[in-house]
Amino acid sequence: MKLTIGHLYPDLLNLYGDRGNIQCFRKRLEWRGIEAEVIPFLSGDEIDFSRLDIVLLGGGSDREQELVCGYLKNIRDDFKKYVEEGGVVLAVCGGYQLLGKYYKTRTETIEGLAILDITTEWEPERLVKNIILNSPLFDMPVVGFENHGGRTYIGDHTPLGKVFFGYGNTGKSGYEGVVYKNVIATYLHGPLLPKNPQVCDYLLERALKRKYGEDVRLEPLPDELERSANSYIADRYSDKKYVLRETIKKHT
Ligand code: GLN
Repeated sequence: MKLTIGHLYPDLLNLYGDRGNIQCFRKRLEWRGIEAEVIPFLSGDEIDFSRLDIVLLGGGSDREQELVCGYLKNIRDDFKKYVEEGGVVLAVCGGYQLLGKYYKTRTETIEGLAILDITTEWEPERLVKNIILNSPLFDMPVVGFENHGGRTYIGDHTPLGKVFFGYGNTGKSGYEGVVYKNVIATYLHGPLLPKNPQVCDYLLERALKRKYGEDVRLEPLPDELERSANSYIADRYSDKKYVLRETIKKHT
């Protein structure tokens, strides 16, 4: 088996080690004897989505997002088709915002891909914090770091999780991210996947099932280091550790 991972615009969308997510995808496949190919697409490159099994769209500054916006217009239809047909996507922060209809910054409105029915509006206070979520998709907490001026309004979409610590989509809604078909869109940098192996495996399994059939199962990995990195953060920012564990239990 083999998965092909498309890294979109690493020349522009590359904040806080988002490319570490690519390394994590690759390693967790290789550890299971599954081949991984990574194709970086720089701004302006042609993208053939039919070759791709996973797409990563990372975070960027408002300025970089504005530049990316010009290139998105050319790929919008193909990217939308890929998502609607079950293509796997991880979109982080600026990438998350760009999957929506628009991001209204302090000075202008950046048009997005409109793949998700969400909108983002800038506010002067940046939301900067370590963040912990409880997601019904995972029995481990999802941990990361957020730094965004945009507030994302997700309408009727399903959030990735509930904010246990940190700000999330708007700082007020109590929710973070969006899950849509095989897309996970989130504000969590860090990079996200090394500390959240269940999120990585969820996306890998979705991609493998889409390509090779519903019977495909990923072999579990030992994950001692990954689990201790995850609980180090979860415990550090939760003075009521038992509450976090209880909340997680309820989800499982
Ligand atoms: N520029 C966007 C914002 O500030 C996204 C930032 C990011 O990707 N960290 O909201």
